[in-house]
Amino acid sequence: MTLTNEPSFRESVDLMFNRAVALMDLPPGLEEKIRVCNATYTVRFGVRLRGQVHTFTGYRSVHSEHMEPVKGGIRYAPEVNQDEVEALAALMTYKCALVETPFGGSKGGLCIDPRAYNEEELERITRRFAYELAKRDLINPAQNVPAPDMGTGEREMAWIADQYARMNTTDINARACVTGKPLNAGGIAGRVEATGRGVQYALREFFRHPEDAAKAGLSGKLEGKRVIVQGLGNVGYHAAKFLSEEDGSIITGIIERDGALFDPEGIDVEAVYQWIQKHGGVTGYPDATHTAEGPAVLEAECDILIPAALEGVINLTNAERIKAPLIIEAANGPVTAGADEILRKKGTVIIPDMYANAGGVTVSYFEWVKNLSHIRFGRMQRRQEEARHELIVHELERLDRYLGDAWSMSPNFKAKYLRGADELELVRSGLDDTMRTAYQSMSAVWHDRNDVEDLRTAAYIVSIDRVARSYRAKGL
Ligand code: NAD
Repeated sequence: MTLTNEPSFRESVDLMFNRAVALMDLPPGLEEKIRVCNATYTVRFGVRLRGQVHTFTGYRSVHSEHMEPVKGGIRYAPEVNQDEVEALAALMTYKCALVETPFGGSKGGLCIDPRAYNEEELERITRRFAYELAKRDLINPAQNVPAPDMGTGEREMAWIADQYARMNTTDINARACVTGKPLNAGGIAGRVEATGRGVQYALREFFRHPEDAAKAGLSGKLEGKRVIVQGLGNVGYHAAKFLSEEDGSIITGIIERDGALFDPEGIDVEAVYQWIQKHGGVTGYPDATHTAEGPAVLEAECDILIPAALEGVINLTNAERIKAPLIIEAANGPVTAGADEILRKKGTVIIPDMYANAGGVTVSYFEWVKNLSHIRFGRMQRRQEEARHELIVHELERLDRYLGDAWSMSPNFKAKYLRGADELELVRSGLDDTMRTAYQSMSAVWHDRNDVEDLRTAAYIVSIDRVARSYRAKGL
C-alpha cells in the first residue's frame, strides 16, 4: 500500500535499517553490502486453464547469502510486486539473524488471487511456478528453501516439495527443499500454528519484563488484557486463539476484509474462524457488533493491537489516532516508517515484525533439520526418558507408602511426569526458548544504550551486527 508522502514498503525497511546503522560502527561499504538486495528473479509463465493460456508473474528475491540456504515464504496475492518481495526478503535476513536460524534472507511471490482458481488449477499453477524456480536453484535444500506466507499453506508446500522431488529423483534430501509441509509429506508437528504461537510467546516474554511493560503503561500479565486483531488467517487466528484460550486475554475486536467485529466482553475466536470458513467473511456473524469500516477498529481503545494481515495498514493517515499502547507486528511491515515515528513520539511500544512473527521461520528451521536428519524429533529418546522417570516415580511411591498419610504425590503428577516429550512438545519448547532468548538480546540493547529509543532499532542492531560478523568471517 503506497500513499502520498508515504515511503514504499521497501523504502520503509531501508529507513528503519538506516536508523539502526547510524548508531553502529560498521566498516565503510559493509553497511551498503548488508542493506542491498543481492538479486531478484522475475518469471512470467503460461498455464493453459479453462481453454486458454493464462500468464502469471512471479518473483523470488535473495537479499543476503551470508548464510545458505536462504529462507523465506512464498506469497500469493494480486498486489505482489518486486518492491514488496525485496522488502520482505530483507526482513527475512534480519529475522533469521535475530532468532539465530542459520539462514540468509529470501522471499517469493506470485501475482494471483488464489480465490479466483479452483484447487486443480492452483496445483497446476504452483507446480509450474515451482518448476521455474527449482530449475534455477531458487528452490533447493542447500540453497533456497521457501515456506508458506499470505495466500499459501501446507497444500501448496506439498505440491512444491513433490515437484522438486520429481525433478531431482536422486536427491536424498529433496524434502528439505521447502518447509511448512503437511506432516505426512515431511512436515513437522506445530508448524501450522508456529507463527501465531510465536506471537503468544513473544507477548508472554514481554510481560515477564515489568519495566518494558511499564513503558507502554501496562502491568501484570496477559490475563484480562483487551486485544484487537487484524486478519484472522493463519497467524492472526492462532495468536488470538491461544491468547484468549490459554492466557485469559479478551479479544475485543477482529478486523477482516469485509469489516470488523467488536465486543468489549470478548469474542469467541474459534466461532468466528468457523464462521469465516463457512461464509467467506465476518459479515453476518451473530454474536458481536459488525461494522463495515474495518480499518477504523484499528483506532479503537485496547491494550494490545495485533495487525496480522498485510503491510502498511498503520500509516501517516491513521497513526496519530491509534490508541493501543502496545502494538505487536504479527504481519510483516504493518507500520510504515512514517507511522513508526509518530507512534514512537506518542510513547507507543512496538514489538517489531522481525521478532514478533519469527515463530514461523524458527519452526521451519526445525522442520528443515528434521528432513536432513531423516528422523522425527524425540524418536530415539522418548521411551528412554520415560523409563528413567519411572525409576523416580517408583522411589516416590515407596516413600508415599512409607510416610502414610503424612505425604502423598500430587494428583496427576505421575501421569504427567512419566510422559516423555513428543515432537510437538519439543517444537514448542524450542520455539519458546528461541522467542525468550531473542527478546532478551533485543531488550538488552534497548535498556543498555541511551541512544536506542525503541525495540525495532534494538532488533536491527542485534541482527545487523550478527550479519556483519558473518560477512567479516567470510573475509569481506
Ligand atoms: P493468511 O492468508 O493466512 O491470512 C491473512 C488474513 O488477513 C486473511 O484472513 C485475510 O482475509 C485477512 N485480510 C486480508 N486483507 C485484509 C484487510 N485489508 N483487512 C483485514 N484483513 C485482511 O496469511 P498469514 O500467513 O496469516 O500471513 C499474515 C501476515 O503474517 C503476512 O504479513 C505474512 O507475511 C506474515 N507472516 C506469516 C507467516 C506464516 O507462517 N504464515 C510467518 C511470518 C509472517
